[in-house]
Parts: sequence; structure tokens; C-alpha cells
Amino acid sequence: MNMKEYIDQAEAALLHTYNRYQIVLDHGDGVYLYDMDGKKYLDFVGGIAVFALGYNNKEYNDALKDQIDKLIHTSNYYYNVPAIEAAKKLKKASGMDRVFFTNSGAESMEGAIKAARKYAYNKDGRTDHEIIAMNHSFHGRTMGALAVTGNPKYREAFEPLIGTVHFAELNDFDSVLKYVNDRTCAIILEPVQGEGGLQPATEEFLTALRKLCDEKDILLIFDEVQCGMGRTGYMYAWQRFGIKPDIMTSAKALGCGVPVGAFLMTERVAANSLTSGDHGTTYGGNPLATAAADKVLEIYERDHIVEHVRETAPYLEQKLKGLMDKYPCILEHRGIGFMQGLRFDRPVGPIINAALEKGLLLINAGADIIRFVPPLIVTRENIDDMVSILEECIEEL
Ligand SMILES: *Cc1c(COP(=O)(O)O)cnc(C)c1O
Repeated sequence: MNMKEYIDQAEAALLHTYNRYQIVLDHGDGVYLYDMDGKKYLDFVGGIAVFALGYNNKEYNDALKDQIDKLIHTSNYYYNVPAIEAAKKLKKASGMDRVFFTNSGAESMEGAIKAARKYAYNKDGRTDHEIIAMNHSFHGRTMGALAVTGNPKYREAFEPLIGTVHFAELNDFDSVLKYVNDRTCAIILEPVQGEGGLQPATEEFLTALRKLCDEKDILLIFDEVQCGMGRTGYMYAWQRFGIKPDIMTSAKALGCGVPVGAFLMTERVAANSLTSGDHGTTYGGNPLATAAADKVLEIYERDHIVEHVRETAPYLEQKLKGLMDKYPCILEHRGIGFMQGLRFDRPVGPIINAALEKGLLLINAGADIIRFVPPLIVTRENIDDMVSILEECIEEL
């Protein structure tokens, strides 16, 4: 069957929840993907901030193959070595004390919300606790994660979601204070907003939130699903300012393609929240998924992936700002590390489609922002190639 026939079959069989680009991807190598016809694409999407180490990484692939031959799944009622090794490495990388492995970002958020609710319940026995989240945030598509996602378009049809959630403005401390009361159990935010438009939280805002949470015994929850795992030039984005959360979520690049996420917490929260029987998952933390996370974390440390981001990402920023200076249709540059965006004065769909034609994969964040979340191993040369294709597309349109 050819590519077109496969696409027709996909449209007949799959639920229509995505407007997919009209290519069938077949394999990858480094920062390149290839479709069924063998056409090559420079990938500045990375499976949406997932494939940090590049495709077809032999060491990573071999680790998975070895684990497949050994043991793929047991129940969480037994211990397994990859989960133990991955948990130790993740504790070290994150500075948090306890790990619960999940299968996705959304599930990590569910766990984080449950932990916060249980912590508050243990304190006062009430069941009417409130959460403060941010406008333009994105935390996933399950009911709890959706309830704290600050985009009414995603939420509306599915209400009622979990109650009561207030939405404040990122980097506007007064907008948070307005909603704080004795029922507030958690404040949830992404240290750098991803889907909502590559907006970083300021040091001032995070410092004020930390102080407020300490004073009122509210739990500060950072969603590091997209901005974590080295993407901002720090293993986790909060480490840039040293403002530590009480609970943190991770996923996306954690398994580099194998579905694995985690929520983590400090010892203080762990000792006063979820306990035996409170939470569980069949697949979460299984040996195959955690072998992926373990190998990813090993490679990150040994190959200095985070340092590479810190050295190389400013070059991307410089290039993108150069484009902004040159083309009046680009209104704004946003983001840090390999989590940057350009806001245009028009919908970016046509630019992304033109880039695809020319062998460059890009993705949007909202209608008017192109988001750059490449594999973290991209080089200056890859950045030059990307920019020259993007520039051609902008000129043509
Ligand atoms: C992608 C994302 C999620 C949801 O992760 P899934 O694995 O798709 O469930 C949650 N939070 C942030 C910040 C994300 O970018």
C-alpha cells in the first residue's frame, strides 16, 4: 500500500481527534525522520518535546531490546531492578525525595492532584479543598488534569470537572492572592508554559508563590512534563531559580518515546499524603518503561545533554530573534532553552505546511505561534538548516 492509501485507512479507522499532517512516518535517525516514501525531514518537533536523544540511538534501543528479552511487565506488588535504578537516578536529577511512576503526563498530574487533596484532607478532614491554576496552562486531557488546564475551549464540553479550581494569571501574584482562602490546598503551574505559548514564569513570581505556600501550608505543584528533562538548560526548569516545588510531575522526554511519566514529592508531603492503598497503576513503573527512563537518565548525565542545551540554545534564540528583526510579520520571540516560539501576526498553519513540503517538521502552540522543541541533541548546523528553510517559507508566503 502507498502512503495515500494508508492515510485513507487511518481516516476510516481512527477517531477524528487530530488534524494530522498528510505523511506517514516510517523511521528515524538522529534529528531526522523519514516518511514511507523515503522523504527526509529535519525534526524540530521531537514528538512534541519527547525524543530528546534523537532517533535510532543504538545504546537506548539495545537497552530496551535487552529488557524485552528479560522481563517486560510485573505487577507493582513486586520489586523490579529497572524501576529501582530509574527511581534513584530521578531522585538525584530532580532533587525530590519520592517517585511514583506513571504512564503519561496527564496521569502524573492526576497523581499530583490526589496527593495534594490527601495532604489537605489529613490536615483538616474537609473535602471542599480548592486549587489555583493558571490561565493558558496545559496539564493534560484526563478529567483532573483538564480541570486545572486554563483553556476553556478544552474544558467546556466535559464539565463538571473536579471542583473548585480558580484560574489566575501567570506572573501576576495579586491575581493568585485573590483566590487564596483556608480551603486552598495547591497552586499548580508550569515553570515554562508549553502549549499555552512558551511563556516562562518569572523568578519574582515563583519566589512570591513559594513564600505564600510556606506561610499558608499550601502545596506548590510544578508541572515539568514539557519544560523538564533538560529542555530549558536545567534538568528541571525550577532549578534555574532554585524555587523548589512540594510536588513535581515529569513525562515526555523522561522515557524518550516509551510511555513513562512520574510524579515526585518531598519527604514531608510523602509522609502526610498518599499511603498504602491510596493510589495505583497496572503499568506504571513496569520494567520496560523504567529501563527506558533509566537509560535516558544515564545518557543525559554521561553525555552532558543539559550542558549541550545551555551552550546551543542561545544560538537558536539569536537566530530566531534575527528572523523577528527581519520580518515584520513576526511579532514576538518567547521561551528559553530548546523551548522557544515565534508569534506571528497571522495563523501559522500555512507556514508549517510549507515547511513540511520542504522537509522540515515544525509545530504550533496556539494558532499564531510556531514552537521549536527539537531533540536536545540538535547542533548549530541543524539550527542553520532549520532557519534557512523557515525563512524560505516566510518569504514565499
Ligand atoms: C504534554 C503535557 C501534559 C500531558 O502529558 P500526556 O503525556 O500527553 O498526558 C501535561 N502537562 C504538560 C505541561 C504537557 O506539556
